[in-house]
Amino acid sequence: MPDLAEQDDRRPLAEAAQRARLVPPPIAEVLVITGPSGVGKGTLIRALRERVSGLELSISATTRAPRLGERDGHDYHFLSHDEFDRRLAAGEFLEHATYAGNRYGTLNSELERVRVKPDARALVLEIELQGSRQVRRALPGALQVFIAPPSTEALRARLEGRGADTGEQIEERLAVAGRELEARSEFEHVIENDRLERAVGALVELIASIWGPKPRGASQ
Ligand code: ADP
Ligand code: 5GP
Repeated sequence: MPDLAEQDDRRPLAEAAQRARLVPPPIAEVLVITGPSGVGKGTLIRALRERVSGLELSISATTRAPRLGERDGHDYHFLSHDEFDRRLAAGEFLEHATYAGNRYGTLNSELERVRVKPDARALVLEIELQGSRQVRRALPGALQVFIAPPSTEALRARLEGRGADTGEQIEERLAVAGRELEARSEFEHVIENDRLERAVGALVELIASIWGPKPRGASQ
């Protein structure tokens, strides 16, 4: 039997409204992980997904050049500035931001990709501060978590240890981080990524407390 939404002749209107961001796209849960670059968001999310199943990663679009080993369509959708602008003008982004000279954004199609995927419980967005503020307005029901470093020195050490950026890029990221850290009070949920295991545990507990004691697909 066809899905009710498919029978609904108002569907084109609903889709147009979504494109115009008048109504949020339908999806069960959205988890936003934000915090300064190098704080360990990616590492935490990888560990979280080993503990809780059904968490689908949103693949962002960016104009930044791929790092060694990064693959188009897997780590990011790598776009030219022109293509990014074209998609922005076409209303394809849920949120977008300029960060350290490059554009980043979440495509609405990511929500749709996960919405129709069997066993997907939530879409996980790993995004910077400006984007998380836009998602707060567009999807007020999304669970937003700010990841904080134990100290600025630890953040610098992690950025240097990751070995992905030049000295100049690290300084640029640390300058942005200073401003981002001032915004932690905007967030109801803040987790300090001191020891990875402890921080992952705190994230698992938080998700359980918000989405129910035993979320569908939780493997623990
Ligand atoms: P982000 O995604 O926030 O930019 P990453 O996940 O790439 O950050 O982590 C940056 C670096 O910090 C990586 O080299 C990672 O291994 C390291 N790292 C992450 N969490 C911790 C932690 N709790 N303690 C020490 N190092 C960590
Ligand atoms: P990186 O260049 O290290 O991959 O990412 C730089 C920053 O951009 C990180 O803080 C990362 O979380 C953020 N970022 C990645 N994808 C997106 C996105 O789709 N939207 C926004 N607003 N930020 C993103």
